[in-house]
Amino acid sequence: MVKPKHMEPDMSKVLIVGAGGVGNVVVHKCAQRPDIFSAITLASRTKSKCDAIAAEIADIDIKTAQVDADNVPELTELIRQEEPQLVINVALPYQDLTIMDACLEAGVDYLDTANYEPLDTARFEYQWQWDYQERFQEKGLMALLGSGFDPGMTNVYTALAAKNYLDEVQEIDIIDANAGDHGQPFATNFNPEINIREVTATCRHWENGDWVESGALQTKRSFDFPEGIGSMNIYRMYHEEMESLVKHIPTIRKAQFWMTFSDNYLKHLEVLQNVGMTRIDEVEYNGQKIVPLQFLKAILPDPGSLGPLTKGRTCIGVIARGWKNGQRKQVYIYNICDHEKCYAEVNSQAISYTTGVPAVVGGIMMLTGKWHKPGVWNMEQFDPQLFLDEVGPMGLPHVVVDGGEWPEL
Ligand code: NDP
Repeated sequence: MVKPKHMEPDMSKVLIVGAGGVGNVVVHKCAQRPDIFSAITLASRTKSKCDAIAAEIADIDIKTAQVDADNVPELTELIRQEEPQLVINVALPYQDLTIMDACLEAGVDYLDTANYEPLDTARFEYQWQWDYQERFQEKGLMALLGSGFDPGMTNVYTALAAKNYLDEVQEIDIIDANAGDHGQPFATNFNPEINIREVTATCRHWENGDWVESGALQTKRSFDFPEGIGSMNIYRMYHEEMESLVKHIPTIRKAQFWMTFSDNYLKHLEVLQNVGMTRIDEVEYNGQKIVPLQFLKAILPDPGSLGPLTKGRTCIGVIARGWKNGQRKQVYIYNICDHEKCYAEVNSQAISYTTGVPAVVGGIMMLTGKWHKPGVWNMEQFDPQLFLDEVGPMGLPHVVVDGGEWPEL
């Protein structure tokens, strides 16, 4: 019997699209696994950024290329020329659909870390990508969506709670803490445009079969984080993994997402919003049209430059509540990641690290056939244990606190 291509790890050539903070981590971590990734090509809009990342990898030759991933024929040609088994999309959410189109055209599997968002509307949802289900199935190709940390690991943690710790998951609180500090007056940990669009969006959480809207960052709680991180303020916001989790684990009747923000970050954000600097529509400036948020991105610190400055840890996890053997029960599954250790390993802070490592492990799952079926899938639709067995040794081990008394948020 002829083995499918994805079953032959020695044939696993990968094309990584996007040479930002996450792309840098993905290249480093793929290069650590020559047993899986037999050849690596890194392509992005600015080739010099690809070359700079490639130059950091001593043992393995990383091929680089310039590509505009908004241009389907151009990307399709590159894929045909490189013949990868998998395309890892770590460009921006705006490129998801064009990269999926090029993968279909060239006949190759696809993976990303963030769901599609149109450039002119701050509205992100999975439906645009779920609509590709039949096209991927017909071609026998797979697309794995949201293989970062949140979404990504948080979906896997929820699936693990449902598989091993609860008979029925009824409520989830996804809690994302960055207890690190970069010492800058105001900076974002990943692409500032994407980050600010996300945190200024109207909040939505899932309750009793419906989305409930509230003002952006209007709901605040305090949460006592484990392992000495301590108490921090968390703010409720909309986050994309809730959409797929409530669809695929329909017993969930309440889902909320919480993130920590410092008072300093919120003060700056409020002023920037009030003066119109977070607007995503075009304004006239000196006879030229500019988008204020894109201009703001250009003057804020490059998230990549925060790597050597950031100290402290992240703690991202899921508290799942429900029933086990007829009793109400809670389980908390989380990872703690240290910014400085990440920088020492891959020249990047923990936000890019915690996104890039699951992207690589998602690729390993697909290329080894452990998670492989034609169609478009989210992370919770596969066996979480297989993923966790791989992602721990790759740098993101998890802790399970089985049973606990966290207050309802
Ligand atoms: P960066 O802005 O640092 O990097 C994005 C890269 O994509 C840049 O190299 C950029 O090129 C390139 N790019 C942008 N447009 C195009 C295009 N049209 N064609 C080719 N390349 C293009 O972002 P990050 O690395 O911080 O984030 C990458 C992705 O990871 C984003 O989608 C983000 O939403 C996601 N993410 C997911 C998280 C999760 O936990 N799931 C957490 C954090 C991020 P150029 O350098 O020329 O601008």
